[in-house]
Amino acid sequence: SAFSDLGLAEWAIQTCKELGMRKPTPVQTHCIPKILAGRDVLGIAQTGSGKTAAFALPILNRLAEDPYGVFALVITPTRELAFQLAEQFRALGSCLHLRCSVVVGGMDMITQAKALVSRPHVVVATPGRLKVLLEDNPDIPKVFQRTKFLVLDEADRVLDAGFEEELRVVFQCLPKNRQTLLFSATMTSDLQTLLELSANKAYFYEA
Ligand code: AMP
Repeated sequence: SAFSDLGLAEWAIQTCKELGMRKPTPVQTHCIPKILAGRDVLGIAQTGSGKTAAFALPILNRLAEDPYGVFALVITPTRELAFQLAEQFRALGSCLHLRCSVVVGGMDMITQAKALVSRPHVVVATPGRLKVLLEDNPDIPKVFQRTKFLVLDEADRVLDAGFEEELRVVFQCLPKNRQTLLFSATMTSDLQTLLELSANKAYFYEA
């Protein structure tokens, strides 16, 4: 298949071409149309499979139709992954004037709180720091009132790291009718439980 078969806008197809992405990877071919159709997704996919673009492209496609912040919240287990994810979002969203903020430990909290209150389109966060910000500043939960997408990247690692309490705080701030996209290297019972909380008919992808 081709990027033009997946339901993406012309600008997104063009961006892929400019970034040297000649044809979609399997996780992209399967998940992009389902995400555009409003489904929740649980994708079992490894790093290197193209999973980031598999969720970033349809999110950006929907964002372009009705741009506001915070449109998407992406949770990932480590700082390094957070910066890499933000970089891919910025590259794929370059023609949208995308504003993307990274919220991770070890960086200045006041700067991060200000960035959140300015309502970037996409927030990429590690669970611990996001929880602290949500609890410390009453303006921050409001920032996520209309969030359309929650992504858990490397979801098995996020859950293994014992971030249940952090995730509970985060989930409470998000609208119930959001789309939830879970990407994980392995299937776990925690993921099964999370999927059962899904408000939309979930699509399961495994290579
Ligand atoms: P990921 O699995 O999301 O960590 O992506 C791994 C790498 O593959 C990233 O550097 C992407 O830029 C690249 N990539 C993603 N999708 C494609 C594609 N369809 N064609 C070529 N490269 C891609």
